[in-house]
Amino acid sequence: MKMKKSLKKSLLGVAVLPILLLGIIVTFFSMQRFTRAMYREAESELSNMAYAVNDMLDIMFPGDYVKYGDKILTLVKGESILNDRSEYIDAIKEDTGLEISIFHENIRFLTTIKNGREERMLGTVCHALVEKDVLLKGQKHFYPSVVIGESKYFAYYLPLVNSDGKCVGMIEVAKSADEVNRMVQASTMPILLIAVIVMIVAGFITIRYAGGLIGDLTKLKNFMKEIAQGNLKTDFDYQLMKRGDEITDMCQSATEMQKSLRELIELDTLTQLENRRSANNAIRGMHHNLVEENEKYVLVLGDIDFFKKVNDTYGHDAGDEVLKYVAMVLKKHMKGKGFASRWGGEEFLLGFKGYSITRATEETEEILEEIRKRDVEYGEEQIHITMSFGVAKGTKEKTIDQIIKEADDKLYQAKSGGRNQVVAQLEGEAADADEQDEMAPSGINSSKPEVDSEILEYIKELKGEEDGRTDI
Ligand code: GH3
Ligand code: MG
Ligand code: MG
Repeated sequence: MKMKKSLKKSLLGVAVLPILLLGIIVTFFSMQRFTRAMYREAESELSNMAYAVNDMLDIMFPGDYVKYGDKILTLVKGESILNDRSEYIDAIKEDTGLEISIFHENIRFLTTIKNGREERMLGTVCHALVEKDVLLKGQKHFYPSVVIGESKYFAYYLPLVNSDGKCVGMIEVAKSADEVNRMVQASTMPILLIAVIVMIVAGFITIRYAGGLIGDLTKLKNFMKEIAQGNLKTDFDYQLMKRGDEITDMCQSATEMQKSLRELIELDTLTQLENRRSANNAIRGMHHNLVEENEKYVLVLGDIDFFKKVNDTYGHDAGDEVLKYVAMVLKKHMKGKGFASRWGGEEFLLGFKGYSITRATEETEEILEEIRKRDVEYGEEQIHITMSFGVAKGTKEKTIDQIIKEADDKLYQAKSGGRNQVVAQLEGEAADADEQDEMAPSGINSSKPEVDSEILEYIKELKGEEDGRTDI
């Protein structure tokens, strides 16, 4: 069950890498969009507050901004002096946490922002870029990163404009960049977490699926390996058929290939029985089991009686039909008991697996009974046939060739004894004493029927009974 590493790796790579890449890309872009949205939200919060402060100043102190003094600045709005009037913006800071500054020109005139020593950062100037964008151009502006003192802020600037349209200063609403980033992180963390979980689950499912695929491919590979090694009776795991995909197709093709090979190599073309080569393999297997596991077996050699006459009388095709009929009967009877093979010409060899000679002889009697009781139909013709059988048991002391030779000798005895009968080894003939109690009672089977006169005459035409034997 060793799968080439490269296939496993490439399959997993093909399956898992795209998921990882897709997951990373999707997460990256969705986090970026989310962050941008959060920044936009911060911007709108700051701009709303800037307008609210502007409205508040106009309502509380109606009128224009006027500056007095050079060294010590006094800023008047309408009729009120704004110096030290930071209570309003302090109240807003307390409510919202936002830092608010009122600039006269580029100088912080009122502010909630304090330095490290807890002093308000009054008199500090704005960034040159802010001065250019907001003061000089008179335009409101949002900056996602402004350094005030030693900290970074998100800041929104709204110009302060007098009734003559002149820009005299600006309102700055700022929010600590750290705070915004903390909020962004807190909001994006669940997205990241879900993305990671989804990637892990998807990866896990994919790895399992890929593992199943590799497992099935391995099964298919092993099945084909068995076929390649000549084991044409091997079966594949039927789970593979359930897939219904290309692997199932490959499995079907492999099975068809196995079937074709088996037909070519192991089956007899005319009768579809095992051929002699396959029978030899099966006998070797049975003999091995006898030697190793003491599993008995019996070989039976059968030969159609006067088959030549069938050919001569009804033609070769009729002879073929008779062979097919006999094969069909043998196959049916031998199912689950061993094997039936075409040994050559009109000779058949049966192998009874795990059978005693008595039981095998009885089974053979039944086969003969079926064959002789029914005529083979060939067109209008009814062809009556009989068969002769020789039975020999497998023994550890003898070689396979010797056992086959014994079955052949018994077949010869059946032929010379009048045909149409089963002849088994006599008691004591088999080497194994342990089976003597179940031996066939006699060498010549008692089922021998009366031989009809036509056949007797035919026999006389032959050179003699002794010559009626067929070589294998
Ligand atoms: P016995 O009872 O002694 O066995 O006589 P037999 O006529 O059956 O035996 P013999 O060996 O004289 O003849 C066997 C015949 O079987 C000769 C051969 O032409 C025929 N035969 C062998 N193979 C085939 C085959 O595939 N098809 C047909 N139709 N005949 C075959
Ligand atoms: Mg014959
Ligand atoms: Mg023969």
